[in-house]
Amino acid sequence: MQVITIELSQRQELILAIVRDFGPITGEHIAEKLHLTRAALRSDLAILTMSGLLGARPRVGYYLTGKSPASVIAGVLGNIKVAEILSQPVAVRDNCSVYDAIVTMFVEDVGTIAVVSEEGFLEGVASRKDMLKAALAGKNINTLPVSVAMTRMPNVVVTYPEELVLRAADKLLSHQVDSLPVVTAVQSDSPDKLKVVGRFTKTNITRLFVQLGEK
Ligand code: ADP
Repeated sequence: MQVITIELSQRQELILAIVRDFGPITGEHIAEKLHLTRAALRSDLAILTMSGLLGARPRVGYYLTGKSPASVIAGVLGNIKVAEILSQPVAVRDNCSVYDAIVTMFVEDVGTIAVVSEEGFLEGVASRKDMLKAALAGKNINTLPVSVAMTRMPNVVVTYPEELVLRAADKLLSHQVDSLPVVTAVQSDSPDKLKVVGRFTKTNITRLFVQLGEK
C-alpha cells in the first residue's frame, strides 16, 4: 500500500524548518526570517495548522505538533462514525418478487437492497449480481421471491451507527462487497433481531473523502 504524503510547497517546508529550530515562534518572526510580510504567510500558516503539522497558541506562537501527515489523516478518520455519513435504508419484504426488487433498485437508484421479515428484521441482502443470476438462470422472476436469490443471515456483513467509518470501510474491502446494512439490535438478549436503520456504501466514503479534501 502507498504511504500517504502531503505535498508541501518549498515555502511551507521552510516555515516548518524555522518552527523546528526556533519554535515556539510568532507569525511575525517567521515572516521576518523569510523577509516577507505576515500577510504573505497567512495562507501557508493556515494550511500547516489545518493539516495538523503546526500547532498555534495565542501570544506564544507556532510550534511543531510532531504529527506526520498520515497520522493527522488517521486522527480525523479515527473520529468519524458511520451514523454521520450513512444513507437512508432501502428495504423490501422477503416475499417480494425478484422483478419488484429490481424495480426498487432502479427507482431508489441503489445497487443493493436489504430484505426484511414481516416484523422488519434483517433477513438478507440482494445485490445487482444476485438479481442478474436469478434472471439468467431462466427462472420466472415475477414469481420467484427475492429471498431465494439473496445472501441471507447470518452471512450478511453489517455495520452499526456507532462503528467507526474506518472499521466499516475495512469490512467493505475485506468482504469485497459494495455496501453494508447499518443495523441496531432491537433487544440485547436477541442479537439476531436487527433493525435496518441505514446503508453504508462506497459512495458514502467517496463523498466523505471529497468533503475532507475540500475543507
Ligand atoms: P454486485 O452484485 O452489484 O457486484 P456486491 O459486490 O456488493 O454487489 O455483491 C456481491 C455478492 O455479495 C452478492 O451475492 C451479494 O448478495 C453479496 N453481498 C452484498 N453485500 C453484502 C453484505 N453486506 N454482506 C454479505 N454479503 C453481501
